[in-house]
Amino acid sequence: MGKHLVLIGGGHAHMVTLAHMNEIVAQGHRVTVVGPSAHHYYSGMGPGMLGGTYTPDEIRFATQHVVEKQGGQFICDSVTVIDAANRRLELAEGDALTYDVLSVNAGSYVPRNLVAEDTERIVSVKPIEKLMDARQALRLALKTRSEKIVIVGGGPSAAEIGGNIWQLAQEEGLHTPHITILAGNRFMADFPEAIRRRAMNTLTRRGILVLESGYAKIIRADGVTLADGGHHPADRVFLALGVRPSDLFAASNLPIGPDGGLRVNAYLQCTEHPEIFGGGDCIHYTPSPLDKVGVFAVRQNPILFQNLLASLNNDSLTPFDPGGSYLLIFNMGGGIGILHKAGITLGGRLAFHFKDWIDRRFMRRFQAIEH
Ligand SMILES: Cc1cc2nc3c(=O)[nH]c(=O)nc-3n(C[C@H](O)[C@H](O)[C@H](O)COP(=O)(O)OP(=O)(O)OC[C@H]3O[C@@H](n4cnc5c(N)ncnc54)[C@H](O)[C@@H]3O)c2cc1C
Repeated sequence: MGKHLVLIGGGHAHMVTLAHMNEIVAQGHRVTVVGPSAHHYYSGMGPGMLGGTYTPDEIRFATQHVVEKQGGQFICDSVTVIDAANRRLELAEGDALTYDVLSVNAGSYVPRNLVAEDTERIVSVKPIEKLMDARQALRLALKTRSEKIVIVGGGPSAAEIGGNIWQLAQEEGLHTPHITILAGNRFMADFPEAIRRRAMNTLTRRGILVLESGYAKIIRADGVTLADGGHHPADRVFLALGVRPSDLFAASNLPIGPDGGLRVNAYLQCTEHPEIFGGGDCIHYTPSPLDKVGVFAVRQNPILFQNLLASLNNDSLTPFDPGGSYLLIFNMGGGIGILHKAGITLGGRLAFHFKDWIDRRFMRRFQAIEH
């Protein structure tokens, strides 16, 4: 008899499952996807969209359309609780639904615990929809005057956002903003010196200030106060403080790792509930914890699809192999990229063109399902 498969989130780890949904349906199973938006945005191209290299249409997947086209059901809502004992989900709008097999790709979020007020002038770098709104707001504001923009965070997202805000102002002939990156104690601290230096040089050459004078303590739209009392006035603040897995699992009393991600085994299967699977930023992969990069979500895709099908049909599961080192390319804006793989670092236009080619190819592959 057919079973009910529910997918939470149409993120990067669910792409192959979404692309092959008609095969699952053809085997007599029912598929439901729950997500807060009819579209899913590819975060790797988010900063490029902010800078104007890509339009929003170019960086998004029509999740709802793809699901419905293949005979699945799409529910535009968020899951608030997974009641694993009863195989039941509670949704934000008050509805509930049951499942036989569940797959979670609920991603991650930027913590806002240091933010002292709720205003659209404090922009999280995720979800990517926020960057879309920020682009419109910046275009409008920088038409008439310059702005002080403070970016809180010292990792690649902060660098990419800074570089792409600069690009936006340059390409549209807007007033040049005063951009400050508050990078904690050390900018790009987790990366090799060659990347750190290149990124720092690219930004500072454009007049972007990168400060390594400590961590933010209080964030308001009109300024950021550091732990040592130093204050940096702002007209707009971007939060690029790193991400944490969805808090859905803690709220559902499911087994979680140290960062709150759902504990899964080598089969991407919840360690306590064999009918629950997961992938992407929201999991804690117990065999070897993974970095929160899209690369792993993409690598998990085929295994997640295979194991969901196996679980629906009572077949055996396949283990996930995270693979070796991965290619990193940062989009620094202005057509400049920084590439790093296995000890080799390359900066400049070629690095950006390579990232652009890889990202556009990824989008083309999955947007093709929409037709
Ligand atoms: C600015 C920026 C740039 C980046 N650039 C790169 C890059 O170039 N290369 C790279 O490898 N990585 C990059 N990353 C990291 C990458 O974005 C993440 O690793 C990737 O997004 C993880 O994919 P995911 O599918 O797990 O999560 P997400 O992309 O966050 O997708 C999760 C989905 O689940 C939905 N969802 C969330 N909660 C619920 C709920 N409760 N109920 C239902 N649905 C829900 C969301 O709406 C979303 O559609 C970047 C990150 C940022 C912030």
